[in-house]
Amino acid sequence: MAKWEYAPAPESTDIVDIKDTYGLFIDGRFVEPASGEYFKTINPGTEEVLAAIPVAGQEDIDRAVDAARTAFEKWSALPGSQRAKYIFRIARMVQERARELAVLESMNGGKPIKESRDVDVPLVAAHFFYYAGWADKLAYAFPGRRAEPIGVCAQIIPWNFPLLMLAWKIAPALAGGNTVVLKPAETTPLTALLFAEICEQAELPEGVVNIVTGAGATGQTLVRHPDVDKVAFTGSTEVGKEIQRAVAGTNKKLTLELGGKAANIIFDDAPLDQAVEGIVNGIFFNQGHVCCAGSRLLVQETIAERLIAKLKRRLGTLRLGDPLDKNTDIGAINSRDQLERIRSLVGIGVEEGAELYQPACEIPDRGFFYPPTVFTGVSQSHRIAQEEIFGPVLSVMTFRTPAEAVTKANNTPFGLSAGVWTEKGSRILWMADRLQAGVVWANTFNRFDPTSPFGGYKESGFGREGGRHGLEAYVRLAEVR
Ligand code: NAP
Ligand code: MG
Repeated sequence: MAKWEYAPAPESTDIVDIKDTYGLFIDGRFVEPASGEYFKTINPGTEEVLAAIPVAGQEDIDRAVDAARTAFEKWSALPGSQRAKYIFRIARMVQERARELAVLESMNGGKPIKESRDVDVPLVAAHFFYYAGWADKLAYAFPGRRAEPIGVCAQIIPWNFPLLMLAWKIAPALAGGNTVVLKPAETTPLTALLFAEICEQAELPEGVVNIVTGAGATGQTLVRHPDVDKVAFTGSTEVGKEIQRAVAGTNKKLTLELGGKAANIIFDDAPLDQAVEGIVNGIFFNQGHVCCAGSRLLVQETIAERLIAKLKRRLGTLRLGDPLDKNTDIGAINSRDQLERIRSLVGIGVEEGAELYQPACEIPDRGFFYPPTVFTGVSQSHRIAQEEIFGPVLSVMTFRTPAEAVTKANNTPFGLSAGVWTEKGSRILWMADRLQAGVVWANTFNRFDPTSPFGGYKESGFGREGGRHGLEAYVRLAEVR
């Protein structure tokens, strides 16, 4: 068989202008942190230092929340059509600066450029367009009830989809008439700071969006600030629980989008080649750093052998390496910590007796990389079948009947997403009724759309993002009198 060799196809980084040192974006300006502290942010694909990022301390958080509080008065009083104008402007600027945003996202986060370019950034623009459309229609969004802004929103986002999670949080908040203080993850602050520049460029009124950088302690200070009215968090279940405890007994509204351990369920009548593509997309998209990743594969026993053989063959064709190369399928693991976490859980999988498969694959000398990994012979009690690995690691189990598939799929503390592959529409509906998952994909996986709500059950959190449901998280609903 002819083997096609790919020539290197690196995306140029000329379009991004990374500063040596950044400021906090507070009240419409970049300012030095009162804390005087900075940390370094790196490129996980090369381990090269990209910039110094400020650490926001208590005083900085106070300033950011004050700015958001002051801005709230005017912003919430603007007619919805005026707020829409700004949000549409941001959406168009994201499109205009799409390449710059995509390159920076891949440099700072490690995801393949083809994903940041074709998935993340287009979805970011789509979210701002979508919620801009709601800003002047709040009176019609919730029939019989009046939607009022909540106030100052503290938003804390993770590193796996830095810009997209920012969009999921900021777009509905602004549409609903709220103001925002957002903290990006420690390892991926750069696109949020570039977004702050876009807010400046869009002439968004000062203080409506504030971006504060730092580590977990900064997030903790922000969540606990007494003048915050709403907290929105995406990240680990552990930190989610801590935040829930921190806001208990206050008036703060809370939404939590936490981890997952999704089942991707393949029936014997599924189109197997398409299912293989869906499995690959389900677990290797963004190196598996996806809360809704299809990290547990449930295969009907009669086709298991054939499907796994196809899957292993497909794994051998995945291209791992430079995130900025346009042909790369699997980029860099986001951080050394995350790489260690993946290694440790894979080690536990081997110790527990599951069978490991990794295709022959060259790992670059520098940067954080992990090969695509499949475990077979996994039982439900294995830690690799229960815990979120958040890496390119798939655990395969089998089932005989639809009922058994449902029982196994639901046998997890999480409930974020699931996938069903079958030719029969009736079976898809039967399964979707019984799967405890916020999203059930049928004959596809990892599809996102701003009009469609996303969120979890059980330890995957509560509240929805996207769609009209996502808007509801950013308004108080009152009786119409
Ligand atoms: P994480 O600690 O939950 O981080 C999420 C965000 O919360 C980050 O901005 C983080 O800041 C901040 N944070 C950390 N501690 C906080 C606290 N006590 N109060 C307020 N904010 C706080 O997640 P992680 O440590 O990056 O990843 C650990 C695991 O979480 C992963 O291996 C994965 O299993 C899971 N995870 C899930 C998602 C998801 O989308 N559901 C996303 C990311 C990770 P720092 O970045 O500075 O820590
Ligand atoms: Mg953390």
